[in-house]
Amino acid sequence: QTHFLSHSLQAKMSRPVQARRLEGIDKNIWVEFVKLAATYSKVNLGQGFPDFPPPDFLTEAFARALSGGNHMLHQYTRAFGHPPLVKVLAQFFEKLLGRDVDPMTNVMVTVGAYQALFCCFQALVDEGDEVIIIEPFFDCYEPMVKMAGGTPVFVPLRPNPPKDGKWMSSADWQLDPAELASKFNKRTKAIVLNSPNNPLGKVFSRGELGLIAELCVKHDVLCISDEVYEWLVYDGKQHIRIASLEGMWDRTVIIGSAGKTFSATGWKVGWVVGSDRLMQHVRTVHQNSVYHCATIAQEAVAQGFQRELMLYGKPESYFVQLPKELQQKRDWLVQSLDGVGMKPIIPEGTYFLVADISQFKSDVPDVSNSDEPYDHRFAKWMVKNKGLAAIPLSAFYSEGHKNNYTNFIRFCFAKEEATLKAANDILQKWKQEKASS
Ligand code: PMP
Repeated sequence: QTHFLSHSLQAKMSRPVQARRLEGIDKNIWVEFVKLAATYSKVNLGQGFPDFPPPDFLTEAFARALSGGNHMLHQYTRAFGHPPLVKVLAQFFEKLLGRDVDPMTNVMVTVGAYQALFCCFQALVDEGDEVIIIEPFFDCYEPMVKMAGGTPVFVPLRPNPPKDGKWMSSADWQLDPAELASKFNKRTKAIVLNSPNNPLGKVFSRGELGLIAELCVKHDVLCISDEVYEWLVYDGKQHIRIASLEGMWDRTVIIGSAGKTFSATGWKVGWVVGSDRLMQHVRTVHQNSVYHCATIAQEAVAQGFQRELMLYGKPESYFVQLPKELQQKRDWLVQSLDGVGMKPIIPEGTYFLVADISQFKSDVPDVSNSDEPYDHRFAKWMVKNKGLAAIPLSAFYSEGHKNNYTNFIRFCFAKEEATLKAANDILQKWKQEKASS
């Protein structure tokens, strides 16, 4: 009897437990590289988060929200966003976009930009739809499109090295207009735009955005615009919002992150801003999945934005100060990397910097029976042998295009001066070892 029972139980367990939508999306680069960094790194310039604290005005706002006497802040708030936060976000975006923004219908708060992206893909992409993704891209776009039943269509930014032998800039990575246009067809539902771009730090120019907008309008395509690094732009460059271009407000969802905006990535507060025509469906996904985000974090972020609204454009504004500090950090890292022979690609925005590692091929042991790309092997070798963690650039490409971009790694420079000095020490020592070998 017992034998018969266990046999029939076993037979039942042979059927797959996982949903078909999970096929092929189980691997995640961060799981592997975060673990490697935790095990081996002395200096971690891998994953994108600041190791310095958020501004005092923000942590003080959190402390006030926590124990300031309004105990209702410990309870649920409005599902689509805590009223003070959606109100101040609407005020801010009215300024940025030069149009009316309604806090209740045009803004929704999410658990970080990550959930904002998930809601948008679920709400706007259907079985059989194609979604254009510009490479290199923040890796979650691809599995999110697939989970929604869509097909990602990839189009790479193509590097054009400057002829004068100067350092490359992220602006030298450009879309080929004809190639981009060739990806639009009647199945195309949306394009994902990420400006400033992770991992390159590219800030798309008005001309480039105009080209994308023109194609979106012509083919009736939506734009999922990931703008989480909107305040991190350097050298006097300007971040232009594609939603402010003609014909684009009605077809764009803008995604943002308090984590990146206020250097508090662990708070996981994000948002979507867009026309109600799109937002009503984004709300449907939110109300049937997460429903509600932590009230206290939303209250503190609302207060942070109220301060920034008052100081908008003034030198005391965090949105003015943070990019200034980060530009200095970028320049330190540029010098350190250049010293050891890793050619930096100067980012116009974000807190990432991509560097060319093609001169280090002889340092890294070649594993003959492995098809692991060189940049992966290099990043692993570097963290194990030098104690410095970074992320291989090919992780930000689709399977079909990965092998074209294996000579680069990405560093995050949103780090304390001491962390960047420690990285510089490692690189200097490495340089001396190379010189004497
Ligand atoms: N988009 C991009 C381009 C990102 O780099 C990140 C974070 N690394 C996110 C979205 C997710 O942001 P959040 O932490 O607010 O979920």
